[in-house]
Amino acid sequence: MARINFSHGDPQSWGQLTQAVRAAQQATGKPVAILGDLQGPKLRIADADAPLELARGDKLTIVAGSHEPLRREYDRAIVGCSYPALIDEVQPGDRVYLRDGEIDVLVEAVRGARIETEVRGGGLLTPRAGLHAIGAGAQLDAVTDADRTNARFAVEHGMDYVALSFVRTIDDVEAAREALAAAGREIPLIAKIETAVALNSLPEIVSAADGAMVARGDLGVEVGPAEVPVLQRGIIDAAGRSLAPVIIATQMLESMVQRTRPTRAEASDVANAVWDGADALMLSAETAVGRGPVETVEMMDAIIRSAEANDPARGAGSLPGAWVGDIGRTIAWAVAAAVEQHPDVKAVIAFTGSGRSGRLIAKDRLPVPTVVLAPSPEIQQRLQLLWGVRPALCEPPDSLEEMLGDVERAAVRELGLRPGDRIVITGGLPLGQNQPSNFLKLHIIPPGVG
Ligand code: PEP
Repeated sequence: MARINFSHGDPQSWGQLTQAVRAAQQATGKPVAILGDLQGPKLRIADADAPLELARGDKLTIVAGSHEPLRREYDRAIVGCSYPALIDEVQPGDRVYLRDGEIDVLVEAVRGARIETEVRGGGLLTPRAGLHAIGAGAQLDAVTDADRTNARFAVEHGMDYVALSFVRTIDDVEAAREALAAAGREIPLIAKIETAVALNSLPEIVSAADGAMVARGDLGVEVGPAEVPVLQRGIIDAAGRSLAPVIIATQMLESMVQRTRPTRAEASDVANAVWDGADALMLSAETAVGRGPVETVEMMDAIIRSAEANDPARGAGSLPGAWVGDIGRTIAWAVAAAVEQHPDVKAVIAFTGSGRSGRLIAKDRLPVPTVVLAPSPEIQQRLQLLWGVRPALCEPPDSLEEMLGDVERAAVRELGLRPGDRIVITGGLPLGQNQPSNFLKLHIIPPGVG
């Protein structure tokens, strides 16, 4: 999946990126989902031609309600922040965090629109960096005017998922859904978990959305880095209970923005996120502005493959009791059991109408390739986010015979299987009627297929 972050760039650049992703998809024949990431009520400093290095003891003036570009003037740095109410929400003695908390400044005085600060923790302040102060931004709507415009952009450009930043309550999720409906299409919604207040209603938020992102950058600023690993597990767990895919984001291979190899701690972080149960791991600056985006993706891929090959949770097939009585879940559990008890099973092939069966199967982390046959490119692209799922296109078959033929051909085409190989087939009957998965067949590919 490719994330297009509406916090950076402009409609022209987003359009070019969308086209580039779709062209790459055509060229490689691989489905790729596009995630449009709405900024939500995030405070940012204004733009600039170049970043500015700030050292401890430097003075920085933040001008509230202004777009003044980041610059140095005489003995101090100055930058605008478009949110006028910031002057009422910070006071002398407060800390303001910039750029995912990498820089922190102490408020010394508030004079009119000018917030005078002194740098305590220095670093490189980049244009449009995030600005965070506890309790600041309370007057911003969950879905801003810019988000509404960008939701329309996402709809018009056929994006597959939309993420909302700084979700605080279930109402924010509903507001984003309404914005998408008003824009003309209800694209599946990812709730970015990055505020302390969202943690109070995490299960409700995750189940109201279609997926969650552990947005560790802002979350870490809000709750402190020490809490992030524990919260990451809690959010993955909440997503598991709702069968929602979950993305782990930010600083996964951060040192590769500059270097050719990650730190060993970063490699462990990637592996641990896999073992924790994430569906997707996200690169941000590494691929957006890093020196070696391709090398970074290759490195992440290698770490993930190694972790997955040694994953104790694979095929565990256990989901919380909330799913007792859910037929689709029962079938997914039976698929995991069939794969475990028949070591000669080479693959699972599942039919899905809405994508739900794919979500169910992904949570079991099967140790064999899993192809999910989707009825439309739209569903196929969405499935791409799920752990271990290889989505492929397939018209809903008219009969069981036709279905078996489709499955056998997909097994040969997508996975290189051969006659005599054993597979598990699952789907919902009657076919093409969006039934939850309600059958499982242990099947041997007959002679002559291929
Ligand atoms: C984050 O804060 O971790 C995050 C993913 O947000 P952003 O959209 O700023 O990258």
